[in-house]
Amino acid sequence: MSDRPEPAAIPQSSPGRDYQSHQAEIDAALRRALDSGWYILGPEVRAFEAEFASYLGLREGVGVASGTDAVELALRALGVGPGDAVYSVSHTAVATVVGVERTGAIPVLVDVDDATYTLDPASLAAAIAADPRPGGARPAAVVVVHLYGQPAAMTEVMSIARTAGLFVVEDCAQAHGARCDDRLAATWGDIAAFSFYPTKNLGALGDGGLVATDDAGLAARARELRQYGWRDRYVSAVAGMNSRLDELQAAVLRAKLPHLDEDNARRRAIAARYDARLGESVLGTPAVGPGVEHVFHQYVIRTRYRDNLMAWLHQRGISTAIHYPVPVHMQPAYAGRLPQVVELPVTERIATEIVSLPIFPSLSDHEVDRVVEAVLEWAQGIPRIEAGLGHAS
Ligand SMILES: *Cc1c(COP(=O)(O)O)cnc(C)c1O
Repeated sequence: MSDRPEPAAIPQSSPGRDYQSHQAEIDAALRRALDSGWYILGPEVRAFEAEFASYLGLREGVGVASGTDAVELALRALGVGPGDAVYSVSHTAVATVVGVERTGAIPVLVDVDDATYTLDPASLAAAIAADPRPGGARPAAVVVVHLYGQPAAMTEVMSIARTAGLFVVEDCAQAHGARCDDRLAATWGDIAAFSFYPTKNLGALGDGGLVATDDAGLAARARELRQYGWRDRYVSAVAGMNSRLDELQAAVLRAKLPHLDEDNARRRAIAARYDARLGESVLGTPAVGPGVEHVFHQYVIRTRYRDNLMAWLHQRGISTAIHYPVPVHMQPAYAGRLPQVVELPVTERIATEIVSLPIFPSLSDHEVDRVVEAVLEWAQGIPRIEAGLGHAS
């Protein structure tokens, strides 16, 4: 037994520590919302919708209960439903595909780019060309995911979608404040979906989501749908649902929104610190596309010996995660059930190679350096692993 204290464990994400770094403001906001006596769709939600829409430079924000609901409501506001096909990626949070299916539409999943891990425009174009009626449905929309905090190749995606007459929904659940060519994620397509799950770049202290758009008609439809289809109170103009953002979450989000850009800058600084030391190693560090301002929801590296690396880090008190270990089209709930129009070789390969290192705004430089040291020490043992000798732990 050594008498030196064990170094503290390093989590992969830490909503608790992120809360503590803005605690006074969040507590005051919660107090205000509690004291108001109004807990659903009140002044905090209205103010947050306006403030977040203004941050995005869009006219409309509609607060909803989750990011999954935001994907569903964005599509339903566009009129997408049964009989329609919706293109998206298999390399995403399963929530993206849940949102699509909940509309009654059929998801058609395409491959991602091998360097950026976002939707591969060539695979989308190939899927559109390969089958005019995938699963017997009429192609209606694309849900493009800005994965890990990096906007997808939107110039190409928009051009392919417009040529094919498809609506474009941006899944911005990992991309609050991300930009490409000085344009914010959420401002390319017809409508965007956000999640405020606690670990997201803008996270609540519970569930939350938002639909953002410049189109007042789409926003009005999303507003009706989120509350029983009501146009006027107690009059359901359309068949809706219940998906409301609550006042407490909206108050928390209002307290955190003014810090979003600085929190994202901190994530970028952490990523740069990782890049500076790991970029020289054999590990695949994240590729950032030209003109992209990445917000590093995740910092994802790549190695054929991923499971070995995760175990090594785990032994040293460093938590990692895989986003995502099983592509959606290979999950038990979906395998063999979705129309497979194109092959997904990149998606299937990277699922076995990717690993997300710790990253969150309150992660310290010292902790980043500890992760780096541990990864580099592990990398020195790769020849042993390749020789089938395992890794000295
Ligand atoms: C988190 C996430 C969602 C879903 O958000 P919830 O609020 O958990 O429903 C959707 N898409 C992506 C890409 C996500 O990361």
